[in-house]
Amino acid sequence: MRQFEADFRAFLGVPHAFAISSCTAALELSAVLCDLKPGDEVIVPAHTFAATAIPFARTGATLKWADIDPATRVVSPETIAPLINKKTKAIVVVHLYGLPCDMTRISALAKEHGIKLVEDAAQALGASADGELAGTFGDFSCFSFHGHKNISTLGEGGMLVVKSPQDAAKVPGLRHNGGRPYPDRGESYWIPAMSDVDFDIPGFWPYNFCIGEVQCALGSALLKRVAATSEKRKVRAQKFILALSEFKELTFQSTPKNCTHAWHLLPAQYDGSRFKKTRDDLIRTLAYEFGVQTVVQYYPLYRYPLFKKAGFGEASCPNTDRYFDNMLSFPFQEWMPEEEFELMIELTRKALTRLRS
Ligand SMILES: *Cc1c(COP(=O)(O)O)cnc(C)c1O
Repeated sequence: MRQFEADFRAFLGVPHAFAISSCTAALELSAVLCDLKPGDEVIVPAHTFAATAIPFARTGATLKWADIDPATRVVSPETIAPLINKKTKAIVVVHLYGLPCDMTRISALAKEHGIKLVEDAAQALGASADGELAGTFGDFSCFSFHGHKNISTLGEGGMLVVKSPQDAAKVPGLRHNGGRPYPDRGESYWIPAMSDVDFDIPGFWPYNFCIGEVQCALGSALLKRVAATSEKRKVRAQKFILALSEFKELTFQSTPKNCTHAWHLLPAQYDGSRFKKTRDDLIRTLAYEFGVQTVVQYYPLYRYPLFKKAGFGEASCPNTDRYFDNMLSFPFQEWMPEEEFELMIELTRKALTRLRS
């Protein structure tokens, strides 16, 4: 575990990183360390995986849903700023699909208002904004090594990056049942017991969010492959996007010039209104006529029963609604053989052509 943490600190160029059981656990500790109370507000992306928001809801704070930018399809300073008020205590951003948000400006916004900033970088290992890696901007940044992500530590795993030394000092105890060494006890080293147990946050009971050593050993090895994996994903994504560029009805996430994309996923928006066709027509045609199974991802969180029942069913996120209702995500596993990938491009071209007639 220590080696994986040291390797990760070196990879990201940060002083404090903690290997942890999952990205959700990292988000959970981030939410706890943000010191949120009922009545406080947290700005959370509406278009993301539920784990981005759940730990913040659990604190009793009120979730305020931030819309996406229609071109990059991630939250932006423009969609976050109007939600900030005196009750706002934290901003959570997600570098969705692997594309970093505009972190230079979002960090400035958080600093200006004295608000904590949390990065959900589960999908963005190795991505960068303005030359800085995703996960180096926030007070807390959370990474996932779940089996679906760009690198995985045997199916589950995560990393929590913490900016302040004061917060970092609290993580080992919160992560492992409040355990900590006793100060030097001299000759009677066994008195009163092997290790001490205490609160790191007064009154807040600690967890066990530890990760196994085998997972960490694999994590260290896989970190060395991040650059190569990202390059392979980039080449494929660019090939796909270029091969479909004449079909203006299909648009991809636009990557700002100052950003590098980790290409975790390959989503697109379909606007077939000129041909009187919908996204569902495209998915149906791809699946049942051409055998390409695409999926629809990241249901706006305010539409889920979980958040509705908790009173977070209201949002003003027109870009999220429009994008989600017209999006589809293409199969993009790294292990997909090249021939299959090329076939998918060919069949997608055929499906789009079919829908134009
Ligand atoms: C996968 C994912 C998570 C959760 O990661 P786990 O390691 O499975 O807990 C959180 N946020 C986003 C955006 C994800 O894609």
